[in-house]
Amino acid sequence: MAMKCSICGREAVIYRKYEGKVLCRKHFLKSVRFKVSKTIRKYRMIKRHDRVVVGISGGKDSSLLLRLLWEKQKKQRHFQLEALLIDEGIKGYRDRTKKYAKQLCEELGIPYFEYSFKKTFGKTLDEMVRIEKKKYGYEVHACTYCGTLRRYLLNLGARELRASKLAIAHNLDDEAQAILANYIRGDLLRAVRMGYVPYFVEDEKFVVRIKPLRDIPEKETTLAAILLNLPFSLAECPYVVDAFRGDVRDMINMLEDKYPGIKYNIVRTFDKIQPALKSMIKPAGIKYCERCGEPTSQRICKTCMLLERVGKE
Ligand code: SF4
Repeated sequence: MAMKCSICGREAVIYRKYEGKVLCRKHFLKSVRFKVSKTIRKYRMIKRHDRVVVGISGGKDSSLLLRLLWEKQKKQRHFQLEALLIDEGIKGYRDRTKKYAKQLCEELGIPYFEYSFKKTFGKTLDEMVRIEKKKYGYEVHACTYCGTLRRYLLNLGARELRASKLAIAHNLDDEAQAILANYIRGDLLRAVRMGYVPYFVEDEKFVVRIKPLRDIPEKETTLAAILLNLPFSLAECPYVVDAFRGDVRDMINMLEDKYPGIKYNIVRTFDKIQPALKSMIKPAGIKYCERCGEPTSQRICKTCMLLERVGKE
């Protein structure tokens, strides 16, 4: 027998085990919008006259984030909205996903900007991986290059677009996994930098990052993107082989299944202890990279160090 919405009795689209509620399309989407608005308000993520740049990829999370911020902006009109895509140069993947990102921006009338590894760093990610393998003879972890260089370029791009906020589409699962992965690895310095507004180190060269979807589980970002008919790609990056992160994800999902609400507990407990962590662990002060001038905690930033490795074939 079809499940009925706990609120109105219509046909349900989801059973939220962690709340013990069954919701129809209307009440599910209403609840997602409410949660996102609450997160934005609670952490004062968007202020009057902010210029918000959304990091988009053509995937479900960033498409949903862009759509929900667009709805908010249409109602409130006190902030500006633009979209920024980073093309890492992953053949057969990013070239496929980015057409969905462009399509959504066109549909919503949001200015679309694109920065690429090739243009900024002179090489695509595919080329960097190939050079690394040829020079050093072992299979390099593409995500190390990709993560570092993409963060660098998102910040640079957002700053060049004069953004006051950079909105990132991390969902509840991403947050819970990152928190637990940092604990397991013992990387407290990285843990201290996380949270609802990461990069607490204030610097004029850092664009403040906000994560309005951090209270929405991944299953629900997918369902909401489908129910809103958003154009998005389900393609998977060919380099996705991070076994450790995959193990952490599987472990959390297994626990969530047995003890619903675990993901929220991980994130909320972390939010409570983060102020204490911040007072205990002081990250190194901000310097500017001697090569590129971007903010870093070291003399040479990680991006420049990685680029040096693949400088010459
Ligand atoms: Fe980049 Fe790794 Fe994600 Fe692929 S899986 S997009 S290489 S971080």
